[in-house]
Amino acid sequence: MSNEVLKVDADLSAVKVIQSVGGDTVKRCYQCATCSSVCPLSSDEAPFPRRQMILAQWGFKERLLSDPSIWLCHQCGDCTKYCPRNARPGDVFASLRLLVTRELVPFRFMHTFYNNLWGLPILILIALMFILPVMFLTFKGVPNISDPVSFPYNPELNYKLAFIELPARVLMIDLIFLPLAVFIIVIMANAVSRMWNMYLDYYKIPVAYRSSWITIIKTYLGPAFREILAHSRFEKCGSNSWRANPHKMLLYAFIILFITTGTVFILADILGMHTPWNPFTHPVKWLGNVGGILLLYGIISLITGRNRAVLENSLKTAYPDAFLLWLILFVGISGFSIEIARMIPVFYNFVGFIYLCHIISVFLLFLAIPYSKFSHLVFRTTAMTFDLYYKDILKKKDL
Ligand code: SF4
Ligand code: SF4
Repeated sequence: MSNEVLKVDADLSAVKVIQSVGGDTVKRCYQCATCSSVCPLSSDEAPFPRRQMILAQWGFKERLLSDPSIWLCHQCGDCTKYCPRNARPGDVFASLRLLVTRELVPFRFMHTFYNNLWGLPILILIALMFILPVMFLTFKGVPNISDPVSFPYNPELNYKLAFIELPARVLMIDLIFLPLAVFIIVIMANAVSRMWNMYLDYYKIPVAYRSSWITIIKTYLGPAFREILAHSRFEKCGSNSWRANPHKMLLYAFIILFITTGTVFILADILGMHTPWNPFTHPVKWLGNVGGILLLYGIISLITGRNRAVLENSLKTAYPDAFLLWLILFVGISGFSIEIARMIPVFYNFVGFIYLCHIISVFLLFLAIPYSKFSHLVFRTTAMTFDLYYKDILKKKDL
């Protein structure tokens, strides 16, 4: 009999993170594998979530970081429903995704602020630290937010940039959100690149089979996008199949609002056609309103459906879930409230205050992309793209 001692380096700090963001049941798992047999997305080549449960119990961060299946899970809750130990693998997977996000993106303290209730006032202060100086700069001092003609619709404060004239409100939004967008794109591009390279190394994909970024985007990203748009994996879910439709509506809402924002940027910032536009007569406003209605429909359905699922024990709502849901709801309600308050005289003096609240919430939602479960927008897309790529390689060669 061998006397060799197998040394296991458990990472207890990683286990603590998993437990603190919703995966507190991870230690209950006793590896019966019921979950892997009921998971509708688990395959023979890469069964989950039983294996990931034991990796999570030991805090094997590197192995979890290199595992795309964590992102293929849509938290349908089928495994949670049948687990004899109530170890809630679906919820543990959600916390594993947060752990991976925390490891891949710089400025970890932001991740801590985003995923703990006590961090919320700090996040609001951070948003104000960025927004208020830009507001005071563009409005040449402290505007009166109880007077919409002072803030945000001051007709006298215009800035001439080259051949374009920008109202203070438009310049303020540009100065806040363009640098924020650049920051997010840079850190997420770096995180995606690290994630992809870890997958390549973990699956030991020979250099001869590694494709260029252009080929990956052309061949695999398109089909991954189509799958995401159709939500076909979501629809395989059993216990929480209700999530497919509202989640899809929310995705479409974000796409429409992204197109609307891009169009406003081109029309207002580049061509100088200044807002505010009439919500009843301007087509860009119609588009924005359709996006806003879909957003409210999707998010309200997700919140109410989730509450039902919690009662049925197929899903758990941890703080990171609740925070993102309520933040999106706040963005939707505050956006519509600006339009409504502008039209109703009794609310007119609240427009500046609502506008400021809306900017803060949009700022926090943007910044949630790298630091909250909202990161799944990018990381799940990457993992699904890798999944398609890897399946293709397996067809070409037995690796
Ligand atoms: S999570 Fe539950 S169902 Fe899955 S292996 Fe562990 S005890 Fe079994
Ligand atoms: S939540 Fe659903 S998709 Fe995720 S591991 Fe469990 S059964 Fe599979």
